[in-house]
Amino acid sequence: MENIACDLCGVREVRARFAAPDRLVTGEIFQVVECLRCGLVFVNPRPRESEMMRYYPEDYASYIPSRGVARFIKNIFLRREARRLNRSFPKGARLLEVGAGSGEDAAYLRDKTHLTVAGMDTSTDAAHAAEKYFHLQLLVGTLLSLKLPIESFDVLRMKYVLSHVPSPRELLAEASRILKQGGMIYIFIPSVESWGARLFGRFWQGGEPPRHLYDFNPTTITRYLTEAGFAAVRISHSVVPNTWVHSFRTVLAEYPVMRPLSRLFFLNPFSALLFLPLSILAALFRASDRILVVARRSNTQHT
Ligand SMILES: [Zn+2]
Repeated sequence: MENIACDLCGVREVRARFAAPDRLVTGEIFQVVECLRCGLVFVNPRPRESEMMRYYPEDYASYIPSRGVARFIKNIFLRREARRLNRSFPKGARLLEVGAGSGEDAAYLRDKTHLTVAGMDTSTDAAHAAEKYFHLQLLVGTLLSLKLPIESFDVLRMKYVLSHVPSPRELLAEASRILKQGGMIYIFIPSVESWGARLFGRFWQGGEPPRHLYDFNPTTITRYLTEAGFAAVRISHSVVPNTWVHSFRTVLAEYPVMRPLSRLFFLNPFSALLFLPLSILAALFRASDRILVVARRSNTQHT
């Protein structure tokens, strides 16, 4: 384990938010803290980088393509995204999916847009899945270790990735280096300023210690991007009833008397519909559990 200073502003003064167990693999308890100066939320102390892989099971959800209703809903959003990419970028523009997981999204965008799509992931399990399911060859390594050529991409896409890396600051600096000037970055992340995060606290499904080493809000992510040389940051709020379903289940599962009830709340159309009105309201009030952050690379200097 290691103790760290705030990755965004460098101070060590933090306040405790809560302690929560690793609910997926080890059951170990982790402290989630908030920086007193900038508001960044992070796990501290945390496992060292070399220890992190043991918190990711081989069948981690991101390494398995979605199916059924989940796939159907995902494709609605991906179709919209593909159309937007085709409108915004010329044929052959280069997109890199950072943390591609099973390769599902990257393969969809490869097939449905006129962009040239590549993907990378740190996990060999993810790379095997992408090859097996989508005939997609991922680059394997961290974005920093891959040392991709300077200004070689027009678009970077990071879906639920930034929370998982040891230093978002270093990752975004590298992202800025490999993006062409004027290139765009699309970042999907949970927001700790959401109604869901406030209501569910340590039970919130958007946070996932220790796999989520960091969690962001619109202010902290905007500051990160600005300091990495990005401008024109735009944030949109998604409608995601699933986070509410999962968080509610986690609450119920904690209390033995409620456990039978938790079986009613698995991911199905009924549960999702139940929480749909709330999640629509949250998005309208700009307090959604998941946000999409879009920014343009503006600087010309690289160090
Ligand atoms: Zn800070």
